[in-house]
Amino acid sequence: SYRKGGYHAVRIGDPFNKGRYIAQRKLGWGQFSTVWLAYDTQSSNYVALKIQKSATQFAQAALHEIEVLSAIVNGDPSNTKCVVRLIDHFKHSGPNGQHQCMVLEFLGDSLLRLIKHNRYKGLHLNKVREICKCILIGLDYLHRELGLIHTDLKPENILLFSTIDPAKDPVKSGLSPILERPEGNLNGGSTMNIIEKKLKSRAKRAVAKISGGRTSMGGPTQKPERNLNGVDLRCKVVDFGNACWNAKPFAEEIQTRQYRAPEVILRSGYSYSTDMWSFACTAFELATGDMLFAPKGSQSFCEDEDHLALMMELLGKMPRKIATGGARSKDLFDRHGDLKRIRRLKYWPLNRLLIDRYKFSDDEAREFSDFLCPLLEFAPEKRPTAQQCLQHSWINRTVSTNVSMENKGVAMEKLEKGVSSLHMKVGK
Ligand code: ADP
Ligand code: MG
Repeated sequence: SYRKGGYHAVRIGDPFNKGRYIAQRKLGWGQFSTVWLAYDTQSSNYVALKIQKSATQFAQAALHEIEVLSAIVNGDPSNTKCVVRLIDHFKHSGPNGQHQCMVLEFLGDSLLRLIKHNRYKGLHLNKVREICKCILIGLDYLHRELGLIHTDLKPENILLFSTIDPAKDPVKSGLSPILERPEGNLNGGSTMNIIEKKLKSRAKRAVAKISGGRTSMGGPTQKPERNLNGVDLRCKVVDFGNACWNAKPFAEEIQTRQYRAPEVILRSGYSYSTDMWSFACTAFELATGDMLFAPKGSQSFCEDEDHLALMMELLGKMPRKIATGGARSKDLFDRHGDLKRIRRLKYWPLNRLLIDRYKFSDDEAREFSDFLCPLLEFAPEKRPTAQQCLQHSWINRTVSTNVSMENKGVAMEKLEKGVSSLHMKVGK
C-alpha cells in the first residue's frame, strides 16, 4: 500500500504543514489512512494526524470527511458533544502523491480495546452506563442538530479520552489516552522518548485500573475483580469517513456486519434509527464482552440469512410486512415472512439471555433489556431516538440509589409516548 496512490510513508520527526506538526509515532491505521501522534508546535499540544492515501477516490473521501468534521466543529464551539474535533486540515505532497491530511484532537484507546483488556467479560454496568451516555450525547447531536447519520457505529469507532491532557501532565492523568501499543519506532533517546516511557508505564497502570469484570459473573474462568472506581470514563465518537446527511444517503450497504440493522440487510431504506440499532449492539457488547449478533454463512444459507435468524431468535418473529418489504426480501424470506433456508428458530429473549448466560441479576437484566429492546425494534420508526434514550431511567439511574418504581414508570411512559411520533419528525 506504500506506493503511488497509497499511504504516505512517515518517519519520526517528519514535519507537516510548513513545520507546524512533527510526527511522533503511529497511532493506528484504517483502509484509507494512517494516523500519527504529532506534536503541534503552534499550540504545544499533541494531536492525531490522519494522512489519507493519495489516489483520487481516497482524496475525495477525505474531502467529504473534512466537510462532515467541519460541520461538527462549527455546531459545537464549546466542545461538549462527545464527538471528535477537527483542528486543521491541509495537503501534503510526497513520493506517492498528494495526501489530504486531517488534524484531530488526540484521543485514547477504542472501546474494542477496553473490552479486550477486560478479557471479554463485560464492564461493570455503571461504566457501561457512563459510556452509553457519552455515545448518546454524540448521536443526539449528530442526528438532531446536524442531520447526520454516522453509519459505522461500533466499539472500534468510539475512543476514550481523559479530561486531563496526559501529554501535558502524564502523572496526574487518571486514564492515559496512550494505551495503544506504538506501531512505529519510538524516538530513540530524546525528551519525547522519556515522556513516551512515562506515559507507557502510566498506561499500564491505567489498563489495570480500567479493566474489571462484573461481580455477578461467575464461572470457572473468572479472574479477580479489578477496580474501575474513580476512573472517569468518557469517550468520543470518531471515524466520519462513512457518515452521510440524512437527506442524501450515498451507499446502500452501510455499517460493519455485526452492527448492521435489519433494514440495511433488506434494503428497505435507512435513517438515524439505523445508528440506534448499532448503538444497542455496542451497549450489549460493553456489558457482556460478546457481540450481540455474530452471523456466519454456511453451505446451505448465507451470512445475511443467519444474521436475520439470530435477530429473530432474540427478538421474536419479524412482522411479515417488514420482512417482505425490502428490495432484497425475496432472496431471504418467503411470502409468509419466514426465512427460506433456516426454518427452526430457538427463541431466547434478551432478558433470559442476560440472566442465563451472563449471570445478571433479575433486576439488572430487566432494566437493561427494558433499555435495549426498544432500540432493537424491527420497525426502524419505532426505535427511540438518542434524545429519548437520554431520558430513560436506566441511563439516569444514579449509582448509589435505586430509582423508585414510580420514577421508572414515568420515564418509561415518556419514552413509549415519544417513540413513534418524535422519531419521524427529527429528520423532517
Ligand atoms: P480510517 O477512516 O482509515 O478507518 P480512522 O479514522 O478509523 O481511519 O482511524 C484509524 C485508527 O487511527 C483508529 O482505529 C484509531 O486507532 C486511530 N485514531 C483515529 N483517530 C484518532 C484520534 N483522534 N486519536 C487517537 N487515535 C486515533
Ligand atoms: Mg476506521
